[in-house]
Amino acid sequence: MKMVCIGRNYLAHVKELDNDLPTEPLFFMKPDTALLPEGVPFVYPDFSHQIHYETELVLRICKTGKDIDEKDAPYYYDAITVGIDFTARDLQNQCKAKGHPWEKAKAFDGSAVIGKFKSVKDLENPSDIAFGMKLNGEWRQQGHSRDMIFGFDKIVSYVSRFVTLKEGDCIFTGTPQGVGEVQRGDRLELFLEGKNVKRFDIE
Ligand code: MN
Repeated sequence: MKMVCIGRNYLAHVKELDNDLPTEPLFFMKPDTALLPEGVPFVYPDFSHQIHYETELVLRICKTGKDIDEKDAPYYYDAITVGIDFTARDLQNQCKAKGHPWEKAKAFDGSAVIGKFKSVKDLENPSDIAFGMKLNGEWRQQGHSRDMIFGFDKIVSYVSRFVTLKEGDCIFTGTPQGVGEVQRGDRLELFLEGKNVKRFDIE
């Protein structure tokens, strides 16, 4: 199982990090070892002093596909949830400055948190999904799928031109504005359409 992550997919977030607006989807990957196991806390890593949360809608791929047409893309994902793309922002900024890959800052153990999936069939309109994250009981990020620069189908189609998508793979679809730091002792709660789909602590 691999995780494909889309970067810079919400205008306000592109602006808050002072990045250029993408003309096509930007993606990177996390290995299966990045997935935070169920029921354990996120352990703050010793190689970073600036771990940021990025709250994102996550798609679950249900069928192997390569060169998927955008119009066929809905057949390739069957469930959606909310996740966190943890980012060592200090390391990422160093990598960006040097023109190096981001893996150190993005693919480390525990950096991918995925909530309980909801079947796409049970969502009224997948292009109109509200999601968010509370940190220590207060809203920190609230997003909406309609604000994505590239929608689910475009993302699935685009990524599959380069990388075969397999059943069980997950796609993080980008963070809205409001990214920020976590500290040891914090509690994060993830919400999809107002319902809690994940709760965990930073240790
Ligand atoms: Mn992200």
